[in-house]
Amino acid sequence: EIYTLSLHDALPIYELILSSIGMPVIAGILFVVWAVFFFKNPVPVFPLVAILVAALYYFSGYIHSGVLAAFAAAAAFLGIMFVHNAVSMLLVMLEIVWLAAFYFVLELYRLKYVSMQNKMQEEFDILDREITLKDSEIAENNKRTSAIIQQIENFQTMGRMIQSFEASLNEQEIIEKSGDLAERFIGKGNWKLKKNVYGDIFAKYIKTTGMPLIVTDLSSDRRFPTMQNRYFSIIAVPVEVNGVFWGILRGTASKKNAFKDADLRLLSILSGIVSTVLNNAYLYLKIQDLAITDGLTGLYTQSYFKERLKEEMKRSKSNRVPLSVAILDIDFFKKINDAYGHQAGDVILRQVAALLRGRFRETDLLSRYGGEEFGVIMLHTDEKEAEKVLEEIRSSIEKERFFLPIESYHPVQVRITVSIGFAELNKKTAAVEDEIIKKADRALYEAKKAGRNCVAGFQNGQ
Ligand code: GH3
Ligand code: MG
Ligand code: MG
Repeated sequence: EIYTLSLHDALPIYELILSSIGMPVIAGILFVVWAVFFFKNPVPVFPLVAILVAALYYFSGYIHSGVLAAFAAAAAFLGIMFVHNAVSMLLVMLEIVWLAAFYFVLELYRLKYVSMQNKMQEEFDILDREITLKDSEIAENNKRTSAIIQQIENFQTMGRMIQSFEASLNEQEIIEKSGDLAERFIGKGNWKLKKNVYGDIFAKYIKTTGMPLIVTDLSSDRRFPTMQNRYFSIIAVPVEVNGVFWGILRGTASKKNAFKDADLRLLSILSGIVSTVLNNAYLYLKIQDLAITDGLTGLYTQSYFKERLKEEMKRSKSNRVPLSVAILDIDFFKKINDAYGHQAGDVILRQVAALLRGRFRETDLLSRYGGEEFGVIMLHTDEKEAEKVLEEIRSSIEKERFFLPIESYHPVQVRITVSIGFAELNKKTAAVEDEIIKKADRALYEAKKAGRNCVAGFQNGQ
């Protein structure tokens, strides 16, 4: 806002009256009287009055200066009545005209100034309003921009999540990640991927109807009377694998009307992704099961080993020929990995596998049972014979030097030892492959406990 300086801005009312009307009038009277008597002639009076009018005008505004000007004019008329000289009379008349003109010009300028000020104020107000408008537009745009950025970030995170999700090959992991993903997709609610229908009335319902489900108020839903007052809203879609019902993807919320039809569409998309990923995981398991050789060592895989063990056990039992199973575990293998790296560890695993292939008999069936564990089926071999063969193998591994692919001046070589546990199939052993493996494993544990680098057979009663 624009302020004009005024003498009586902060004065109380009586002082205001005194200063704004009384003082100028008294000053004017005294001034004119003084001038008339001092100069004995009205001629110089009016220029002085004009100066006073201008000064008052400047400091105090048009009312006071106007009062003074009027008063001076009145005084001049009084003067005229006492002046008989025609020239003096003319001069006084001219001065009155001049004073009036002077005042008129001043007033004109004042009006011009005021209207200019008003106009400027108006323009300023318009500009101000425009600025406020623009400011709010900018704020709005900023909000919109940050919302878009947020959305982009959200999509990126979602993309990354889906990427890592799609790479999951483990059912448990898929179940966990699905919940996170649904939360990211839809936001509100608690999310769960549920396998099967057991203990879940909604899953049962969806499996039966084959349709997605939205409940906006569970407390008044007759379909699920037992579930009332746990939560109010529920949304769920079926998840199918290979076209067969697998389970449901479900969200619950503690308030009513939490989920909308749009959420259902998103959830259906997600359920499609989930079912594809689950399908992949099962395919992967199947392929793994189908593969009979291990990629690193070329030995048989555990699943094939078990498969064959089942058959060989049956055959041994019916033919009444002995059979032994051994498990070899490299001692302190973690230390080798830690000291030389995982790749060096892999090289050793490969070399051990080659050594085992050379040392075991043609009829023995060798497998990589686990990370640094090897399983062997020794056909036609009883406990005694097994112990002899295994002891030879243990000792030959102990003597072997393993060269590591480490970048250094001298080739790095290490020695390793293995602990071996074995068990013979006998009348007491059930014809399940798990039983005899368990026994061999138990013996391996004893070998480790006995200090490693040794062979231990399963003792009955252990
Ligand atoms: P011990 O058997 O004597 O008790 O000790 P350990 O250190 O051998 O036993 P542990 O079972 O604790 O560790 C086995 C290690 O084998 C852990 C893992 O890093 C390593 N391992 C498992 N699979 C592989 C593989 O494929 N390559 C390599 N380089 N290391 C493996
Ligand atoms: Mg081990
Ligand atoms: Mg080990």
